[in-house]
Amino acid sequence: MKRPENKKRMSLKLKIGSYLLIFGLGMISLLVVFQMFLLEPMYESNKIRFVKEISDSVLKYMKTDELDDVIESQQVRTDACIAVYRPSEGSYEEARFSNCMHYRLSALEILENTAKASKSSDGTYLYVGEREMKGESRNRLKVVVYTRIVAEEDDDDGNAVIMVNSTISPIDAAVKTLQSQLLYFGAIVVIGVIVLTYLMNWRIAEPLMHINESAKKLSEGEYENNPSTNRYLEAQELNETLSRAAVDIRKADQAKRDLIANVSHDLRTPLTMITGYGEMMLDLPEEKTDENVQVIIDESKRLNTLVNDLLDLSRLQEGKITISSESFDLASLIRSEMRKYDVYRMKDGFRIEEYICENAEVTGDQKRLAQVFNNFMTNAINYCGEAKHIIVRTETDKGRVKVSVQDFGPGIAEKDLKNIWDRYYKVDREHVRVSSGSGIGLAIAKEILDLHHCGYGVESKVDQGSTFWFSLPLQERERV
Ligand code: ADP
Repeated sequence: MKRPENKKRMSLKLKIGSYLLIFGLGMISLLVVFQMFLLEPMYESNKIRFVKEISDSVLKYMKTDELDDVIESQQVRTDACIAVYRPSEGSYEEARFSNCMHYRLSALEILENTAKASKSSDGTYLYVGEREMKGESRNRLKVVVYTRIVAEEDDDDGNAVIMVNSTISPIDAAVKTLQSQLLYFGAIVVIGVIVLTYLMNWRIAEPLMHINESAKKLSEGEYENNPSTNRYLEAQELNETLSRAAVDIRKADQAKRDLIANVSHDLRTPLTMITGYGEMMLDLPEEKTDENVQVIIDESKRLNTLVNDLLDLSRLQEGKITISSESFDLASLIRSEMRKYDVYRMKDGFRIEEYICENAEVTGDQKRLAQVFNNFMTNAINYCGEAKHIIVRTETDKGRVKVSVQDFGPGIAEKDLKNIWDRYYKVDREHVRVSSGSGIGLAIAKEILDLHHCGYGVESKVDQGSTFWFSLPLQERERV
């Protein structure tokens, strides 16, 4: 058998490691991309939304006494600078923004922004840009300024203005902090990946490798159920499945050996008889009697039966035989098959009782079901012991017909019962010579009954005898 090419395949250990590494690197790259390209725009848009929200909340309190408190609390809570100007309080140039914490807009800037807001359709103007700070540091800061014109109906002097501004630039400091954090984070991810790879290899890959090593011996029916590989459910199940497979392989191997032993024994016995009788008739012309010729014919027939049975079983097992589906009366089939066994009653002193029902119309393969029945009968004759007592029954019950063959022979031990239908299984290894059996009769019966989806079984007690039975559904009209 050609083994699959393994060289180019990656081992599970390497696969787990590389997947985790790819995952770790992916996470780090995602973070870098976020920081380099997305952090600033996100921060900016957040700031814009934020100043707009502040402007909205100030607008809500424009005409209330709480306005000053609202402005103050917003400024304490946030880093935004809020200014409300009313025309009645003087010109824009004189507007005071003394409560701004971070920076102050020049009067010119206020005028410019206000002019732009009043010209826009919704009375608002958003300015986002850099602005040089006054003072010693002369830093350039990115700022956002949101100007809103508020029409005040009762005020003739003009409109009120709400201005909210905030800085965006401090994000640089945040980015630097994040970048240094990213380094630590990267290092933690790499260490995490290494530890995780080790742990996963130890927990997942290693048990599988153990199982793989032991499974290599499976073809010889050997499998070492290693308890250290039972670290997780799937490994444990795989272990158990392989152990069962090893037992089955051993069994099949034993069955194959038994077959060869049994078949060669069964072939040799008639062959010895044929050769012996042939040679005897050649050497002693007076032995050329009809009886001796009959022995040769009988033994040849036995050989023929054996070979046919073997072929039959192998074709049934390969699914090459299909059963026909005809309607027939099973009761009259059993009745007519029973006539074959009259000879045992007359010649060999057998007591064979028949309790066969009137009519039992079923669907199936007549010939094959007769074959099963005859196998049960042959076995009963071979294994009925001194009692030579056999009871055949066909009974109908609950829409089914049951055919059973009971003997009062040595019976079958409990431990052998489950194996009785197996190929070539013999309870007694000492070969029992049967009139037409080949040692695989029950295996053939099982295949046929399975194809019919029949119920079947055996009840047996040591020294009390056995009852082999099968049952089939009756055709509709029979059920009433
Ligand atoms: P064989 O040709 O050996 O009878 P079968 O497949 O028909 O082969 O039966 C398998 C085995 O089952 C037999 O070898 C025998 O040990 C056991 N067996 C079958 N029928 C009976 C029975 N009626 N009583 C006791 N043992 C039986």
